[in-house]
Amino acid sequence: MANEKVDVVIVGAGASGSVYASVLAKAGKKVVLLEAGPDWQMSDLISSEMWGRRIRPAGAPFLLEGKNPFGYAGQAGWGVGGAALHYFANHPRFLPNDYKIKSEHNRALDWPISYQDVAPFYDKVAHDIGMSGDAKAEEKWRPAGQSYPMPPMKTFRHGEIWVKGFESLGIRMVPAPVAMNSTEFKGRPACIYDGWCHVGCPTGALANPTVTYLSEARKAKAEVRALCSVTRVLTNAQGTKVAGVEYYDEKKVRQVQEANVVVLAAWSGQNSRLLLNSATDQHSKGLNNSNGLVGKYMMTHSIAGINAIFDEDIQNHLGTIGAQYMSYDRYGKTSYKDAFGSTYITCGAAQKTHDFASTRPDLFGPDLHDYMKRAARGFTRISMFGEGLPNIENRIELASDKDEFGMPLGRLTHSFDQDAVALWNANLEEGQKAAKAAGAKEVWVGRAAIPTTHLHGGTIMGTDAANSVVNSFGQCHELPNLYVAGPSIFPTEGASNPTYTILAVSLRGAEQLAAKWATVAG
Ligand SMILES: Cc1cc2nc3c(=O)[nH]c(=O)nc-3n(C[C@H](O)[C@H](O)[C@H](O)COP(=O)(O)OP(=O)(O)OC[C@H]3O[C@@H](n4cnc5c(N)ncnc54)[C@H](O)[C@@H]3O)c2cc1C
Ligand code: SF4
Repeated sequence: MANEKVDVVIVGAGASGSVYASVLAKAGKKVVLLEAGPDWQMSDLISSEMWGRRIRPAGAPFLLEGKNPFGYAGQAGWGVGGAALHYFANHPRFLPNDYKIKSEHNRALDWPISYQDVAPFYDKVAHDIGMSGDAKAEEKWRPAGQSYPMPPMKTFRHGEIWVKGFESLGIRMVPAPVAMNSTEFKGRPACIYDGWCHVGCPTGALANPTVTYLSEARKAKAEVRALCSVTRVLTNAQGTKVAGVEYYDEKKVRQVQEANVVVLAAWSGQNSRLLLNSATDQHSKGLNNSNGLVGKYMMTHSIAGINAIFDEDIQNHLGTIGAQYMSYDRYGKTSYKDAFGSTYITCGAAQKTHDFASTRPDLFGPDLHDYMKRAARGFTRISMFGEGLPNIENRIELASDKDEFGMPLGRLTHSFDQDAVALWNANLEEGQKAAKAAGAKEVWVGRAAIPTTHLHGGTIMGTDAANSVVNSFGQCHELPNLYVAGPSIFPTEGASNPTYTILAVSLRGAEQLAAKWATVAG
C-alpha cells in the first residue's frame, strides 16, 4: 500500500544514503529511499560529453555568495546514485591528523572520534565496493590496515612523467587508491581505460552506488522512489521525535511518508536546507537547531591545477578520470611556512579535448590551432587539493525566493580565509616546480578564481549539543530518531577527496543504528 508507515525513510539515494539503505534493509528493516532525481540505469550512462549533461541537473539552484562562491551546480548529484554516479572515484583516506587538528595545532575543530575509530570501516568499505591501490605503499603516511582487494590500476605515460618531477622536490608518489576495478571484482568487469568515468561508467568497473550498496539494498527489498523531492522533516505533536517526511512525487503531488527513523542523506547543501525548512512551534529556528549551528561551518577544498605540455606523445587520452599517482607528502598542516592546512596531490587523469581547450581561453585562430596540436599529444595536468578550515561565517541560510514546491532556496555564502588562499598559492608554486623538474616544455596555471570542490559541513558532529548538530554516528542531539549522513557531518575537511570517508563514516553510523534500533526507533 502506498505510503504505509515504514521503519526508515532515507532522503537521497547517493553515496551515503545507499550505505544506510543496504545496512538497514539487510537488518530486516522496511526501507524507503526518496530521491529527487531520476532512477538512472547503467544504459543511461553514455560515453559522450553531450549525453553526459543529461545526468547533471541538480534540482533547485542555490544562491551562491561570498568572496569564493562554491561551484554548486557542477558538484551536486541528481538522481539515483547521487554525485557518486559520475564521480572520479579517487578514494584517499583522511589521515590521523585530520581528526585532531584542534588538539595538535589549536586551530579549527577536533572530530569527536579518531582515525582508529574509522579505520576498520575504511577496510570494510574497500572490500564491500572494490578498490584498487597499494596499501603498503600508503602506510608510510598512515597506520597499517588491510590490503585493497585489487592491485593498483595500470599507469600511462601522462601520469608516470610527473613522478620524477615530484621526487626532485622530496615528494614521493605512490599508486592512487581508487574505487575502480583493476581486475574483475564481484562479477563487475575490469576497467578498459577509456576515460569516460566523469559521465558515468557504463561497464560497472567504477564503484558507483547503483552497482554497490544500492544494488545490495534493492536485493534486500529496499524501495527506491525516484523523482520524489522532500521538502520537510515532520515531527510528532510534542516535537520530541521525528515522524516522517513531506515530499512531492513525480506528478508534483504532496505526499507524506511516515517512518520510525528518518535519515537525511541529501548532501551538504540540502541537509541543512531541509532542517532549516522544517521549523515548527517547538523548533522555531529549524529542526535540531537550538544552538543555531545548522547550516554553519560550510567548507570546500581549493584545487591548484597545474597545466603542462611535454614534447612527446604521452598518450593523455588513455586511463581513467581518477588519479594514477598520489602523495600525502604535503599533508602535514604546516607543510608550507606561510600557509596552514593539508594538501592532497594527484596526477594522471585522462584528458578529453575540451579539458585542454578550456585551459587556454585566451587563444584564437592559428594560435589556438597550434596549441591544440601540441596539447593533443603532450598535455597533462595535476590537481593539488587544499584544505579550508571551518569558519562559522561560511553558511547556508534560507532565501526569500522559492522553488517549484514553495520551498525557500538555500543561500550558500563561502569565502576562503587567508590560510586557504596562501595554501592554494603555495600549491600552485610547488606544482609548477614539479612540472619544470619533470621536463615540461610549457607550464601555466589559471589564477582568475580559486576553483572549489567537495562541499562539507552544515550539520557538523561533535561531543555534545553545545558544539555540534549530531554525534559521531550522525544521530541528532535533540531528536534521536533523526540521523544525518554524508560530508555535512564532517567538522573539518582535510584535503583528501571525501567519498571514502563518507562511506566509512556512514557505515559506522548505519551499523550503530541497526544495533541500537529498539532504543532509537522504539
Ligand atoms: C564531477 C565530480 C567528481 C567527483 N569526484 C570525486 C572523487 O574523485 N572522489 C571523491 O571522494 N568525491 C568525488 N566527488 C564528490 C562525491 O561525488 C560526493 O562527495 C558524494 O557523492 C557525496 O555523497 P552524498 O551521499 O552526501 O551526496 P550524493 O551522492 O550527491 O547524494 C545526494 C542525493 O540526494 C538527492 N537529494 C537532494 N535533495 C533532495 C531532496 N530534497 N529530496 C530527495 N532527494 C534529494 C540528490 O538528488 C542526490 O541524488 C565528485 C563529485 C563530482 C560531481
Ligand atoms: S575508464 Fe574504466 S572506470 Fe572509467 S568509464 Fe572507462 S571502464 Fe569505467
